[in-house]
Amino acid sequence: MKHNFYAGPSILPQSVYKQAQEAIENFAGTGVSLLSISHRSKEFSAVMERARALVKELLKLDDDFEVLFLQGGASMQFLQIPYNLMRSKSAYLDTGTWAFKAAKEARYFGEVDVVASSKDKKYTYIPKMYQIPEDADYFHITTNNTIYGTQMHAIPDSPVPIVADMSSDIFSREMDFNRFGLIYAGAQKNMGPAGTVMVAVRKSLLGRTGRDIPTMMNYQTHIDKASMFNTPPVFAVYGSMLTMEWVKNKGGLKAMEKINDEKSRLLYDELDRNPLFITHVAKEDRSKMNVTFDLKDDSLKERFDNMWKEAGIVGLKGHRSVGGYRASLYNALPLESVRVLVDVMKELERTA
Ligand SMILES: *Cc1c(COP(=O)(O)O)cnc(C)c1O
Repeated sequence: MKHNFYAGPSILPQSVYKQAQEAIENFAGTGVSLLSISHRSKEFSAVMERARALVKELLKLDDDFEVLFLQGGASMQFLQIPYNLMRSKSAYLDTGTWAFKAAKEARYFGEVDVVASSKDKKYTYIPKMYQIPEDADYFHITTNNTIYGTQMHAIPDSPVPIVADMSSDIFSREMDFNRFGLIYAGAQKNMGPAGTVMVAVRKSLLGRTGRDIPTMMNYQTHIDKASMFNTPPVFAVYGSMLTMEWVKNKGGLKAMEKINDEKSRLLYDELDRNPLFITHVAKEDRSKMNVTFDLKDDSLKERFDNMWKEAGIVGLKGHRSVGGYRASLYNALPLESVRVLVDVMKELERTA
């Protein structure tokens, strides 16, 4: 079995692969494939309901929240959010490529106040000192910056509702999720197969823009139809449901946080100890999901690459815009895989 460090689409629990495979052959005892049954069947409707309920349960969301599974990925949310929530002004924290892209789309709908940016230092830290304008309709943050390997370990106090892109750290740690106005996450990092984006939105924030919203773009459309206004991405929703059941059975977010702490500590300790490696991210902002690092001496690259590939590791290459290496330590990645990577790093030091 491979040690899968891909950033997304990424590793899912082994049991999910197995259950999904079975459902493709014979879904819920119907004798037909999950891929070939009406999404209006009672068997699939139950999947959608269960998936929506599990998000609320895992995040302990209050009754004001509605959970949707939509298409278009997190990138579609970059525009659907301002479409639905922004009257004339919004605020954004620029902590990386995805945050930057989100702010860009909001500009189609009005004034965007970028309260702070870490672009000056190649997004290697999370800005802490900034003012959130009280006349903004919402404040948008990216809780984990997948490409650069930074993570917000504290959520700021905000005078306006906080909208959070949690694509790469959803279900990875405990937090008071009721502090948010809207939470969204593309499934393919830490929740399930590619093809759907989860949106948890407070009903009380909707219908305030004074703008006509096209049917498919309007959250209210999907809320009214229980996330089944049109054909949902059935496989992605099913896989997400299975993964959330797995998280729940493992002990929920508390248990995920514990193992994620352990995995990331093991790798960062080695990065801090091993003189061959360097990580550019500010220590207090290090991500527990995506660990970015590099070799100090480029001439060791071929040797290191061969060693980790031989150890059965895949997906360790950094994002094409950053280079270097990135180890993604999502919920489903076993501690053992991190041990194998750390052993390879030690072995490189010993033999370099
Ligand atoms: C991957 C990612 C996105 C983009 O997701 P798509 O579903 O491909 O649109 C957005 N935000 C973050 C934080 C991501 O990691």
